[in-house]
Amino acid sequence: MAGKVYIVGAGPGAADLLTLRAAALLRAATIVLHDDLVPAEILELCPASAQIINVGKRCGRHGRSQEQINALMVWHAREPQAQTIVRLKSGDPAVFGRLGEELDALRRAGIEFEIVPGVTAAAAAAASARLTLTDRRAASALVMVTAHNARNESLSRTMFEPARSTYAIYMPGPDYAATVNGLLESGQELATPCAVVSNAGRANEEVRYLTLAELASMKGIPAPAMLIVGEVAAEHSPRRDEDLLSKISSEMRDPYHHDRFPIHPGLG
Ligand code: SAH
Repeated sequence: MAGKVYIVGAGPGAADLLTLRAAALLRAATIVLHDDLVPAEILELCPASAQIINVGKRCGRHGRSQEQINALMVWHAREPQAQTIVRLKSGDPAVFGRLGEELDALRRAGIEFEIVPGVTAAAAAAASARLTLTDRRAASALVMVTAHNARNESLSRTMFEPARSTYAIYMPGPDYAATVNGLLESGQELATPCAVVSNAGRANEEVRYLTLAELASMKGIPAPAMLIVGEVAAEHSPRRDEDLLSKISSEMRDPYHHDRFPIHPGLG
């Protein structure tokens, strides 16, 4: 009997933003391999008998390499007594979480696995900042990018139609000035609005609404933080598509406008 690996999204860090499926799997887990960003509150759902291993990169001298994490999953899945292994990753496990490498290792070893999605930081940050990433009046694309990628490519090489896009930038710090430079190179302007959200969805969340110019000189933004860039991130008086705005506001003044058309025109 081989064990099974559940790759589970822990959400942005508040236990009540965990899915019910994730909670049920944590309660049934015998082995849990988790990242640094997963809070104690969520790990407390695991049975006392479960073996809980922090495989986080920031875990000092105990930090595990990606190869070691892969090896741990495979080793536990091959234990003679079948284990329920939960690989717990922050947010959604498939968004900037090196999931590709872990899936390759499991596939190569012939280990059964299942993926349980989670609330990704971009969604949590948008909710905290009370904005919509895809406001139809201001954005027709949502691009999730990382300021730290494996190929060391600059931000400007990964961008897309700057004026009509929202960028949800993971790992934007600590060098925000460099991130802003990358955005400027990609066609954004110093006046482009942005929202930087630290600890989204947690009790200590902080939201700042700024322009890129202001962000470049901002100090002391706590990690983890998400950066949302684009017109959707303007807190007040967003510069939006004026035609659409006036059409939408006339619908708001008269929401039953269409009901006054005769239902049977021929009889009316
Ligand atoms: N898989 C995760 C992302 C992992 S990369 C997800 O889907 O959310 C780690 C980055 O995610 C952090 O550097 C930060 O940019 C962002 N992040 C994770 N949790 C966050 C939170 N609660 N608030 C703000 N940003 C967060």
